[in-house]
Amino acid sequence: MLVTLAQDAPISTRTTILDAAAARGVMARIMPDGIGGDVVAIGGKIDGDIAALPGVTQVQPIHKPYMMASLEARSASTVMVGGVAIGNGDPVIMAGPCSVETRENLIEIALTAKEAGASILRGGAFKPRTSPYSFQGLGEEGLEHLAIAREATGMPVVTEVMEVDQVDLVGQYADMFQIGSRNMANFALLKRVGRTGKPVLLKRGFSATIDEFLMSAEYLMAHGTNDVVLCERGIRTFDTTFRFNLDLNAVPGLKELTHLPIIVDPCHGTGRRSLVKPMSLAGIAAGADGLMVEVHPDPDNALSDGYQTITPAELGTINRVMRAVRDTILDAEREVTETPLAATA
Ligand code: PEP
Ligand code: MN
Repeated sequence: MLVTLAQDAPISTRTTILDAAAARGVMARIMPDGIGGDVVAIGGKIDGDIAALPGVTQVQPIHKPYMMASLEARSASTVMVGGVAIGNGDPVIMAGPCSVETRENLIEIALTAKEAGASILRGGAFKPRTSPYSFQGLGEEGLEHLAIAREATGMPVVTEVMEVDQVDLVGQYADMFQIGSRNMANFALLKRVGRTGKPVLLKRGFSATIDEFLMSAEYLMAHGTNDVVLCERGIRTFDTTFRFNLDLNAVPGLKELTHLPIIVDPCHGTGRRSLVKPMSLAGIAAGADGLMVEVHPDPDNALSDGYQTITPAELGTINRVMRAVRDTILDAEREVTETPLAATA
């Protein structure tokens, strides 16, 4: 059940609802509704006439199973990562190496990526590799390098957490947790990360439906974080030409279902360096709130995912063209809306 409360709803209304939920042993979480009030999400039936309580403006007993993530719960949300806003209309670039390699290399990437237009630094310290014999990441040493690169650039850091036991450690360094494709449905990890209340970048499982993706976001939210950003990173299809197929239906499709921001990862989504720019632009044209891009000064010699990694200079080009694409679309939409059809005939 979703209960919307006016800005001036008395504390007693919240207490009554929370007590009624506790009496039935069901979860209840309060989050902002994005327009000044709050929304209470209740994970089951509770007793009492909730609609009659002072300050209750709406009760929705029927809603999507991912009620907190649903657009039925609240207006579009903006997620803050450090000082960077995701979802406020200005596309955000998260960029950095697939894996953190050395301190010097990471600082160089961070400085040049920032110069190219990135505002959040990415980099894996714990890596989910298909082969156990591939480079598994530097672990805590990689996290330390990320913290130093953050200091050098002022960019907040997003990095992957793979296991419940790593959450405290990664949380000491990260401004935003990344939950990777292979862990999207690791419910124990989602619950544990959700409980930290920190922002989370949730990547879509490469075989996950949109509903499953949103239910994983719901796990995070039901356990304590309001700040979830979704990432479309490509799915598996019958066609094996590309490593993955970037599902751009997901971007406008998710915008119809959820208030959460959504970004696009054109590197994992294609597995091919030459496709990163066109699919970045397509993602932004489809309405994405930003991009996650793998960047390295020498992609051919990167320790992981070099074949889908671009240089900082290429990122700079993408950033400029992406902004031009976004502005052109907004201007064209405005012009078409403002110009009556008869006048264009
Ligand atoms: C990554 O971002 O480096 C990564 C491993 O992504 P994914 O979980 O989408 O494969
Ligand atoms: Mn990668």
